[in-house]
Amino acid sequence: KPKGRLTAKEYIDGILKGDRVILSRGITIVESNLESDKKLAKEIIQAILPHSGNSIRIGITGVPGVGKSTFIEAFGKYLIGQGHKVGILSIDPSSQRSKGSILGDKTRMEELANMEDAYIRPSATGDTLGGVANKTGESMLLCEAAGYDIILIETVGVGQSETAVHGMTDFFLLLMLSGAGDELQGIKKGIMEMADMVVINKADGDNIKKSEMARRQYQNALHIFPLSESGWSPVVTTASAIKNIGIDTVWEEISKYKKQVDENGYFIKNRNHQQIKWMYNNINEELKQLFYGSKNIADHLSDLEKDIISSKISPVEAAQNIIQEFKNSI
Ligand code: GDP
Repeated sequence: KPKGRLTAKEYIDGILKGDRVILSRGITIVESNLESDKKLAKEIIQAILPHSGNSIRIGITGVPGVGKSTFIEAFGKYLIGQGHKVGILSIDPSSQRSKGSILGDKTRMEELANMEDAYIRPSATGDTLGGVANKTGESMLLCEAAGYDIILIETVGVGQSETAVHGMTDFFLLLMLSGAGDELQGIKKGIMEMADMVVINKADGDNIKKSEMARRQYQNALHIFPLSESGWSPVVTTASAIKNIGIDTVWEEISKYKKQVDENGYFIKNRNHQQIKWMYNNINEELKQLFYGSKNIADHLSDLEKDIISSKISPVEAAQNIIQEFKNSI
């Protein structure tokens, strides 16, 4: 056992006891790319898996500046006041490039970060969204095993990462602003469609009237989407994260949702579906890496590209040839 590192049993016992320091160190192991850590991570996850899942997982997205961290600070404090333990994670595939991550700046949620019943973890870094999503997904399991019964997963509403967050959460919350069209806010239609709830934030001061108008517009816009399999009709509300207005309504709606999907069976069905999909996403990712990561294949592919351009081979035949070559090599 390398110096300073705990045994698997020490990690497992510590996490199950809700020890935040050990939880943090456990997540560091789960995030690590070292082979020796990967083995340890597997052991930890295997052991805590039966103790995970006892939470509601909430995805929170919205463009930078919409007020995500301010909202999470207010919402987290509210939930703790209701007797919950809140784990806060993020998915930010850009963090590798920008060298800073959302949630990275601890001062963003200062009060919450100092609360006993909150655990805040900045985004994992990685090369691929799939890799980052794996780390966040497994960190979530560790948080659940440590007794956090509400998990908030934050992401920036500008790319593919919302789909990843949607794929690992039970409820998807979209924060928006009034007075700007969704195009202006960089919110794609697909993201609106994933939302179980839209919250128009910054509904305070001069913004109150505009926010109410925006609320009605978005509520109408959401009506044109077909009802999701959950049977839940998305709701639109207004809130002020800074003034602590409308925060309780968000939790009331989420609780209503939870009750409905528990009763109609969608909660479990969706969780099961997500687990299976998580496996297939990994298979797809690994297969791609195995294929494109091979030097032989890479060389041959560039030859094939030339042959296609000079009409020596059809694209279909080229694909078949290279797959055959790959099959022969394994
Ligand atoms: P994020 O980038 O989405 O995490 O947004 P932040 O939480 O960092 O907020 C961006 C800016 O909007 C900050 O200056 C906040 O103080 C401000 N802000 C956040 N929530 C509200 C709100 O409810 N009302 C008003 N007026 N300002 C807010």
